[in-house]
Amino acid sequence: MSRLLCGSHGNVVCATNNDGLNMESAKRSLTGLTNKPEGRVLVLYTGGTIGMMRNEQGVLVPIANAFVKNLRKYPQLYDREYAEKKFGAMGPLVLPVTATDNRRVVYNVLEYTNLCDSSNMTMDEWIRIANDIKESYEHFDGFVVLHGTDTLSYTASALSFMLEALGKIVILTGSQVPIFDTRSDGLDNFLASLVIAANYNIPEVCVFFGTNLMRGNRTSKASATSFEAFYSPNFSPLATANIKIEVDYRSIFRSCILEKFYVHASLNRNVGLLRLFPSITSELVKVFLQPPIEGVVLQTYGAGNVPTNREDIIAELRAATKRGVVIVNITQCATGCVSDAYEAGKLLYKNGVIPGFDMTPEAALTKLAYVLSKHEWDTETKRQMMQTNLRGELTAGRPPTMQDWDLVEAVARSLRLSSAAELQELGSILFPAMLNAAVIRRDIVKLESLQGYGADISQANADGRTALHIACCEGDIKVVRRLLKMGANVHIKDRFDRTPLTDAIEYDRHEIIKVLLQCGAHLHGDAVQIGERMCDAATAGNTKRLQSYLMAGADLSQKDVSGRTPLHFAALHNHTDAVKFLLDHGADPHCIDMLGQTATELAKAARASDAIRLLTSSGQNGVVKNAHAS
Ligand code: ASP
Repeated sequence: MSRLLCGSHGNVVCATNNDGLNMESAKRSLTGLTNKPEGRVLVLYTGGTIGMMRNEQGVLVPIANAFVKNLRKYPQLYDREYAEKKFGAMGPLVLPVTATDNRRVVYNVLEYTNLCDSSNMTMDEWIRIANDIKESYEHFDGFVVLHGTDTLSYTASALSFMLEALGKIVILTGSQVPIFDTRSDGLDNFLASLVIAANYNIPEVCVFFGTNLMRGNRTSKASATSFEAFYSPNFSPLATANIKIEVDYRSIFRSCILEKFYVHASLNRNVGLLRLFPSITSELVKVFLQPPIEGVVLQTYGAGNVPTNREDIIAELRAATKRGVVIVNITQCATGCVSDAYEAGKLLYKNGVIPGFDMTPEAALTKLAYVLSKHEWDTETKRQMMQTNLRGELTAGRPPTMQDWDLVEAVARSLRLSSAAELQELGSILFPAMLNAAVIRRDIVKLESLQGYGADISQANADGRTALHIACCEGDIKVVRRLLKMGANVHIKDRFDRTPLTDAIEYDRHEIIKVLLQCGAHLHGDAVQIGERMCDAATAGNTKRLQSYLMAGADLSQKDVSGRTPLHFAALHNHTDAVKFLLDHGADPHCIDMLGQTATELAKAARASDAIRLLTSSGQNGVVKNAHAS
């Protein structure tokens, strides 16, 4: 956050900072103070055609610091009235609200100093983007990366591996024509990406182009001229944005590891792509496989075939795999998968080459760079990982069995529904209700079978509440763990802007708070509002609640709107347990409220003698005795 808002990073310029937004006002600006909750999106503008403008010669060039200024001129991209009233003229940008979206999109733009044609991108830029997402991860609901189209699929694929245990959506988009040109695909691509990033919990690195939201590591650039510039040859889109945005929740890849989001920020650069062609020489193959190369994506014919009559090439491949070079076989065909159906394919596997199934060249190459940089894995593990589906990038063997809509179909039949749309809608109504019922009954077997029937474990009901929200209220740690292992997302906010962590705090489920934090959950929203809730707890002498907030990472000295801290209220109401708890956990007894009063002064005014004793014996000159951090 600090880097975004203070703009101290060497390589990036923060548009909001250029506009003079300070940290406090930015924090305040990003809260949901309106009826419609806000969805906060960080836009990383790295370059590419989308943001380019024509110079005097009519040539397309990126112009530093012009992008945000121009965005503010477009009513589709900037609701001036709302934004200026709420955030001031130089605050974040806000999209006009629509009736169909649940959240109003508030977005900040982080403009890179070296706006880059994506042909010039390197692994260093991928690492920079990943780190920028990490820096701002907790402050936004989603991320949109504006990127040149030429190497966009490489970046998307690389990020999908580098962003480990990702719980929020990252969308890469760009355009064939600059966004500020009269007729441009950029406007639609950008708008749809913003709306999806703010409104949908799809915890994946995606590419949006045309009308499709695709899994990033399944995409390739398909056209240098068409507005449908990207395709996802072996995997259908995660969502389509036509009049309605329709998400195929069943195809979302959800991380099932109880881990917090982190970035794997190193890549092995000794990797390459080698495409076979008739009469390729063994000298070329030999040179290509020489050290320092450590991993090669071999693009073979059809279902993964090499010429069986070219022992010279096979010998080079064999020698390289024996030296430890990881060689992954993928097809040159646009769609389909390599297999060992033919002798010509089997030959490769006998000589140490491993199958890359239906991975795109971009996914296979970036996955190699990622896997080979994992120093904790030995060579055999790396070879295994290349064949394992890590982020939905490959389909190996049989797809997981799903009892295709049986349950819903049965209900649908009895209701005489027939169209796919009706079935889809029925599923979206029935599944959340059934998941919630299973949570309330603590029925883990039922939860698992519902997933088997095609329920998305993070599917929300009409109030935007998921099974995990309910489980956090109910308080059974086993159910919570199971849901998380089934891929339930910790970041989903309901209609009232509550996350599962909010529920766990307000039901004082301490074990659950711990496991949610382990999975990357964090407090969100306005610090002053959190301060107010803690002040309420202190007023009621609810030490357990204060402990819940402390466990969730709240600052116990956070002030409410009147500048009072929880300690002020605990002292005022003479709640000695709460006063002691707060002092023991580092609350500052010298904080003054808007009237200039400390907690001790308030306690004195209220004749709260026990609280006064604790406060006065707690320390002098700002030093609190026995204080310890936890
Ligand atoms: N050459 C440009 C780039 O990849 C093309 C584009 O943005 O579409 O950055």
